[in-house]
Amino acid sequence: MSTIKTRGMVLKVQDYKENDKLLWILTEEYGKVTVIAKGARKSKNKNFSNTLPFCFGEYVLFKGRTMFSLNEGRIIDSFQDILDNYDTLIYGSYFNELVDIAIEEDPCNEIFVDIIKAFFLMRNGAVDLDILARAFEIKLLKATGYGISLEHCAVCGNKVNNSDYISFQFYGGVCGNCDKRYGTHVSIAAYNGIKFLSKVDLEKAGRLALDERTKQEICKILTTFIELNYRRKPKSLSLLTGFQMATTNGIM
Ligand SMILES: [Zn+2]
Repeated sequence: MSTIKTRGMVLKVQDYKENDKLLWILTEEYGKVTVIAKGARKSKNKNFSNTLPFCFGEYVLFKGRTMFSLNEGRIIDSFQDILDNYDTLIYGSYFNELVDIAIEEDPCNEIFVDIIKAFFLMRNGAVDLDILARAFEIKLLKATGYGISLEHCAVCGNKVNNSDYISFQFYGGVCGNCDKRYGTHVSIAAYNGIKFLSKVDLEKAGRLALDERTKQEICKILTTFIELNYRRKPKSLSLLTGFQMATTNGIM
């Protein structure tokens, strides 16, 4: 496997030496890979535009000792229009940073499919970005082994329709017979909201209508799962200011 050809999305870019770039690409089949793109900082270089942040393309990568190097790439969709709108720029950056934090080298095809879907949905505009973000977070948690159990008590496994408590320790709703510890109380609306978002495709997630208070409650719960389970808190989360600041004094 010295050379691979794979579809991928550029999650993060860093300047390297005088003319090179370091890229973190989420690939369709090989998880997240670190790639050096020699000369790609020069605008005349053949790999200048396929190495911009958010670019979705097909890449031919050569596997070196410590990282891959980019041979060539073909843009499928550069998603550069996402950068033109402040809201989609912030949410797009958040999705990419979240995936960068959550995914390592293990293949994660569902998340590759979902992040591309999320970018197309953002471009189409007919979607509530907050709800899209919550649905994406739930899918990412599940795909990386931190799925939230909402149809069965996370402690004893008995079936539950809903609960007023979600445990961060056991990853899910807790029934009336089990100890409610290491978690948070939750409204029925927020519980059912998370349950709905965990069951439907990203396309359908946008159809969920929630009041601001319930959205904030769901955001706070998912943010706690993210902070507890991934190696660091996404920095771009703090840019989603109004929303995040409102939750600081919320239900926790
Ligand atoms: Zn129970």
